[in-house]
Amino acid sequence: PYTGPSAEKVLQLRKTYLSPSLSMHFRKPVMIVEGKMQYLFDEKGRRYLDAFAGIVTVSAGHCHPEIVKAVNKQSELLQHTTTIYLNNQIAEYAKELADKMPGNLKCVYFVNSGSEANDMAMMLARAHTGNWDMISLRNGYHGMSMATMGACGHSTWKQPVPQSFGILHAMNPDPYRGLFGNDATKYAADLQDLILTATSGRVAGFMAETIQGVGGATPLVQGYLPAAYKIIREAGGICIADEVQTGFGRTGTKYWGFENQGVQPDIVTMAKGIGNGLPLAAVVTTPEISASLTKRLHFNTFGGNPVCSAGGRAVLRVLDAEKRQEHCGVVGAHLLKRLNQLKDKHSIIGDVRGQGLMLGVELVKDRHTKEPAKDATVEAMERMKDMGVLMGKGGLFGNVFRIKPPMCFSKDDADFLVDVMDEALNKL
Ligand code: PMP
Repeated sequence: PYTGPSAEKVLQLRKTYLSPSLSMHFRKPVMIVEGKMQYLFDEKGRRYLDAFAGIVTVSAGHCHPEIVKAVNKQSELLQHTTTIYLNNQIAEYAKELADKMPGNLKCVYFVNSGSEANDMAMMLARAHTGNWDMISLRNGYHGMSMATMGACGHSTWKQPVPQSFGILHAMNPDPYRGLFGNDATKYAADLQDLILTATSGRVAGFMAETIQGVGGATPLVQGYLPAAYKIIREAGGICIADEVQTGFGRTGTKYWGFENQGVQPDIVTMAKGIGNGLPLAAVVTTPEISASLTKRLHFNTFGGNPVCSAGGRAVLRVLDAEKRQEHCGVVGAHLLKRLNQLKDKHSIIGDVRGQGLMLGVELVKDRHTKEPAKDATVEAMERMKDMGVLMGKGGLFGNVFRIKPPMCFSKDDADFLVDVMDEALNKL
């Protein structure tokens, strides 16, 4: 049993010594002291079903025994030296990760967070093309470093300080709220117009999530990415897929989110689920693009350290051995069906979307005006927590439930979640 300080004491410590700009997920905070696969436990031993996976980070499951074993074994052998010496773990891991990539995406850089990965990707794009302007999407999220904050398309996540200049934001091809509905050609025309009017006509690259995560599990209109990639390449740019949330089979149909739109990126960035909770991230690109950085050295102290590499390798093995991609497809389809039935019952549900175990439920006051039901979302989330389900939240207006559990989430868990959501919405 837990023997540390009480939740009240921890809250007091946090308020005194940690950043005041941290957000708290619930009005009455939950303290989590233990995790096991798709379940989390508070300091009193109460169990919660985890529908958010540490913000889409725990892929295989909390404290998955195989991954813990691999990490512990490596921790006892060697924790750190950096890449100034040879070590088998990082080299074997790079090969195993590259084997998961389509085409000529065979050169791997290991870093420690999604922000670092996207920073690196933008640097590669600029170094390779000799162009400066980058384009990302409104409502996208790419990180909190100065450069990636500039790439974010959310006022919520932009401090009022100068961010990396030279990043432009194209109209978001959002099927639910986007101005052009489901028409990929119109969003692509906006991208073309942005290049013609706001850049020299030549760009370094384009970066997009393949389903926007923080933006509320918002898929991009089908057909948008192929059109956008073509326009960017014609303007001399390269295409970056941010797979920080959508990778490793979470969408069910494909291992990588971008494959769902049939595109082949030049750079793929990954973080979160790649490490099942370890601080690990990666950038994968082609040998040609990576050659652009060889005029100088490039270094990262912890990137690909033996412990995280051993853990990352175990994640790849476990997800394959447990057939998690297929599982996400089956459980996700069942969950989507049940959530759509719930939409028929509750008019507050304006939209149900996503695929695999990357789903969103958007709450609105009125289905025609789509006015966001932000307070109701907060209220329902709190009630779901009291009934034992930890739900995610997001979207530009904070009115979207984000359902992105550990990938071991079962059909029974899905049914429990929907029943609890039903009850929480009944009580509003
Ligand atoms: N890209 C995406 C799509 C993300 O969701 C996030 C984190 N929410 C990041 C990048 C940044 O990752 P990190 O917090 O590890 O820097």
